[in-house]
Order: sequence, then C-alpha cells, then structure tokens
Amino acid sequence: MTAEAGAEGRSASSGGQTGVARPKLSRRRPTPASDAVREAAVEVVDVTREYQLDGVSVPALRGVSLRVERGDYIAIIGPSGSGKSTLMHLLGGLDRPTTGRLVLNGTEVSALSAAELATLRNEVIGFVFQSFHLLTRTTARDNVALPLIYRGLSRGDRRRRAEAALTAVGLGHRLGHRPGQLSGGEQQRVAIARALVGEPALLLADEPTGNLDTASGVEIMALLDGLVRDRGVAVVVVTHDPEVAAMARRRVRMRDGLMETTPTDHSLRSRSVGDPG
Ligand code: ADP
Repeated sequence: MTAEAGAEGRSASSGGQTGVARPKLSRRRPTPASDAVREAAVEVVDVTREYQLDGVSVPALRGVSLRVERGDYIAIIGPSGSGKSTLMHLLGGLDRPTTGRLVLNGTEVSALSAAELATLRNEVIGFVFQSFHLLTRTTARDNVALPLIYRGLSRGDRRRRAEAALTAVGLGHRLGHRPGQLSGGEQQRVAIARALVGEPALLLADEPTGNLDTASGVEIMALLDGLVRDRGVAVVVVTHDPEVAAMARRRVRMRDGLMETTPTDHSLRSRSVGDPG
C-alpha cells in the first residue's frame, strides 16, 4: 500500500474534500525557518499501527517518534515493507495510529472527528505523488487552482493565487498549458504548485522523482529545497533512491516498523546521516 493509494478517492488536490462540512479551525501562517522557536508542522510520538488481515494483526509501525518542523527537509528511506507508507499516511492525517500521539500543526488528532481531520488536512498539508495526478484536460493554472475551491475563494482570487504558485515553481510562462504539453519535470512542478497553493505547513511527497529522469529529479529536489528555505514549509519525501535522499537535509531510515535514526542536528546536512550502505 502506498500513500498515493491511500489518498485516492479524494480529489487530486492537497486534501480537497467534497461534501464535508468545514468546521472552523484557526489558521496559522507559515513561520520562517529562521525563527528561534520553531513549531512542529507534524509530530508523531511513539506511534504504532497494526493492520488486521484475515484475523491476524500485522504490525506495520512498532513505536516511532518523529518531529517535523517548519524548515525541515526530511527523506524517509528503507526497504519495501518497512513502514514508510504507513508512516506517511499518519503524517498526512490520512490514517490514525493504533497507539501513540499524532499532532498535526499543534492539534492532537485523536480528539477530532473525521470531518474535522479532513478540514485540518486540507489546511495544513499538501500532497505530491509519483504520478503527478493532474487533470489531463485542464490547464496548469486550473489544476493548481482546484484545491482552492474548498476554501471558498472567488474564481479571480483562485486564478491569481494559482498563477503566483506556478510562478514560484518556475512555470509562470506555462499557465495555459495542459499536462500533455508539459515535460515530466514540468508536470511535477505543477503538482508541487497545486500542493503549495493553499500555503500548507507541510508538504508530503511520495517518490516525487520516481517517474522522472535524473536531471529532472535533481531539479525537483532542488526546488523543494528552495521552498523549505524561502517559505519555511516542512517537506517530507519518501524515496528508495539514495541520490534523492542525499539531497534532503535529514534522513530517517525505517526498518521492520522501527526508525533506525532520528537525527535532529541540521548542521549535519553535508554528512551522511543514517544513509543506507
Ligand atoms: P513500505 O511503504 O515501507 O513498503 P508499508 O507501510 O506499505 O511499507 O507496509 C508496512 C507493513 O505493513 C508491511 O508488512 C505491509 O505488508 C503491511 N501492510 C501495509 N498496509 C497494509 C494493509 N492495509 N493491511 C495489512 N497489512 C498492511
């Protein structure tokens, strides 16, 4: 199971929900990464997640803690079946832990109804997937504007914000292009703009470079790095590619439902921290 699969059924957006009442939640503005006291975009504390399969309990996470702050750029690595997708589901508020605490942008998730969690997810998290998930007959501008429908903004405001987000990812000159008229790297930039347009605290990316050639993949990772630096957004990337993981600022390696390393020192960026091999 992947985070991508888990997010299906929602609109191809940063958590857009249809037919869900929108309880009022306080909206926090992004905090610059340089702030002395940085708040967690998401935190899991000693979480476990067990799946029930044919009456048998499958422990996918066996006690994992991770604090993701604004300005963090984390790669989650590890072999297939180690719990990466399950952890991403939790960080994205798509699932709840069996035990342990999940705190999304300061809100403890266990107390929320499904509708409240959906609203919080829509406001706090942007999702990026390996296969872009763009609407093929829709322009880049309208793909990016889509999640804002759930924010109740006017069409003009949605378009202006979509254009700003596309400009921020270097696609200000491709507003009217449809996905088929864009390269793979450009399509992933559109998807990143769509994830960003709602100004999330946290951007979760599941194998974002998996469908790209090496050069485009490096560009995407560099773009994410710039967003972390300039906007103070937190980025978490799941990848099996060591070169991609090396471009993040921290690496977290999963094995058998446990986290092998949880380095917190950002000055370690140039060193290999918990790298495979
Ligand atoms: P990864 O993303 O690292 O490949 P997953 O988080 O998808 O790992 O899976 C972790 C473990 O949980 C695996 O043993 C997997 O078989 C199991 N698992 C994942 N999803 C389910 C599910 N829906 N039902 C039962 N077992 C699951």
